[in-house]
Amino acid sequence: MSGRLDIVGLGPGREGLVTPEASAALEAAGAVYGYGPYLDRVPLRSGQARHASDNRVELDRARAALEAAETGRVAMVSGGDPGVFAMAAAVCEAVEQGPAAWRGIEIVVHPGITAMLALAARVGAPLGHDFCAISLSDNLKPWPLVERRLAAAAQAGFAMALYNPISRARPWQLGAGLDILRAHLPGETPVVFGRAVMREEEEIRITTLAAADPASADMSTCILVGTAETRVIARPALPPLVYTPRRAPA
Ligand code: SAH
Repeated sequence: MSGRLDIVGLGPGREGLVTPEASAALEAAGAVYGYGPYLDRVPLRSGQARHASDNRVELDRARAALEAAETGRVAMVSGGDPGVFAMAAAVCEAVEQGPAAWRGIEIVVHPGITAMLALAARVGAPLGHDFCAISLSDNLKPWPLVERRLAAAAQAGFAMALYNPISRARPWQLGAGLDILRAHLPGETPVVFGRAVMREEEEIRITTLAAADPASADMSTCILVGTAETRVIARPALPPLVYTPRRAPA
């Protein structure tokens, strides 16, 4: 019998932001795989096996889930959207490299609200015009490539969402990345730091590129960098609104 693997996006961390289809897929799974803290967010169902793994072993985790899915129904969870710097690509990689039988497994990807969209929603519409997403992690790509992409995105006028901005193993990359952006964008370009967005510990800080401080970020932070067009509307009794106009100048 060939089975099924549901790759489920859990969104930024609030239960109401998980899609009903994603919840139904989790409920139906005989076993759930994922990084420990994400698994902890999934409501326990009796009889369901849980396989928590470390953050760094994505390909091994993908292979284990595919093996189990050869004969049963299995779910794999990711924070945010599973296709954004997350497990869906790892599963595809494992299928491409794996045994022929894995190409018979039904794979269903359930989208989730990714960090940049959750953060953008909290402050207005900073991604209201063209934008891109860049991971600052150089675990899976060389740092000079990150630098080239940051410069190209700034020169092209894209607003940007920066994922994986900093970690204990990567302490200097964010500062270096911000310096590259400063070489191409005005100092007053709005920058938004969003930590643990849409969770209880949420912290949002709106600043400028000139003043952006890498110490405002940790592993749970997503950073949005605006364009030369991005505006901040001050409001007396409410937080400011950050938005990038729908029209760009020629
Ligand atoms: N698949 C996830 C991203 C995984 S990469 C998604 O779609 O959101 C991990 C990075 O995502 C973190 O370093 C951080 O930059 C970002 N991130 C994930 N959840 C977040 C949240 N609730 N608030 C802020 N950033 C978050």
